[in-house]
Amino acid sequence: MGDRMTQTAHCARPLAGKAALVTGGGSGIGRAICLAFAQAGAHVVVAGRTLGKIALVAEEIRTNGGQVATVAGDVSRGADVQAMVGAALEQFGGLDVLVNNAGISPSGSVTAISEAEWDECIAVDLRSVFLGAKYAIPAMQRYGGGVILNTAGTFGLRPARGKAAYAAAKAGVINLTRAIALDYAHDAIRCNAICPGFVATPLTEGVDPAERDRFLAQYQPLSGVIQADEVAALAVYLASDAARMITGQTFVIDAGQQAGIY
Ligand code: NAP
Repeated sequence: MGDRMTQTAHCARPLAGKAALVTGGGSGIGRAICLAFAQAGAHVVVAGRTLGKIALVAEEIRTNGGQVATVAGDVSRGADVQAMVGAALEQFGGLDVLVNNAGISPSGSVTAISEAEWDECIAVDLRSVFLGAKYAIPAMQRYGGGVILNTAGTFGLRPARGKAAYAAAKAGVINLTRAIALDYAHDAIRCNAICPGFVATPLTEGVDPAERDRFLAQYQPLSGVIQADEVAALAVYLASDAARMITGQTFVIDAGQQAGIY
């Protein structure tokens, strides 16, 4: 009976006492992951580009009784990412979970985009994952293991037209996830990628509603739009000890988008 009660409490708060760092935590999927992690018992470092946005998320967590810290910075800069990892170590005494989630989604074919646009997309969407892993892994090694989750995207599996840089960056994230999983499995560090389809977030707010509805009707056979908290629920599971034997994998949450040929 006692054991069952302990297990139930464990399931209700599957990340109890874990220190987590989430980049791009100020909005959309990152915000939902921060809130879900805090609800699952994690201490959360909310990292992002805009201090006002991450402060609001932190306030929401604090109001609900969670422990939280914020760090503003650019995920494409090594020094900023080191500061984010440092905040987790200083505030919470370790780093158990890193979510490399911050990203941008520029559009354009290779002839349409500039060299600068290409470089920015690769830096924010792919280099950031390299930097996050590079600076989090030594801390995880010191504390006996950890979990890295990378928000990729279905366009990293198969691109849509006009998303050249984004599709290349996200494909890179998927294979980098596998490389990290292989290189650090012996340190009990797991690394998995999440590939959302079209999710309702500030990133997709700008999409013309008619174009969005056409895309959803044609490519996402389950009706309705994927919500950020549905992606966050998957992240909670993958970050928890329930997923202790899962690493190097890509988890698609796309309402059926990748299931077939359209
Ligand atoms: P979002 O609401 O725009 O969130 C992206 C977050 O990343 C924002 O908080 C943004 O900060 C932050 N960010 C951007 N560049 C940054 C930088 N250089 N340094 C630090 N933070 C930076 O979009 P989202 O939809 O939640 O996207 C989250 C992740 O999911 C991204 O990697 C995206 O590619 C991926 N994804 C989204 C979808 C979708 O349909 N929404 C589908 C597949 C994959 P600011 O707000 O301050 O700019």
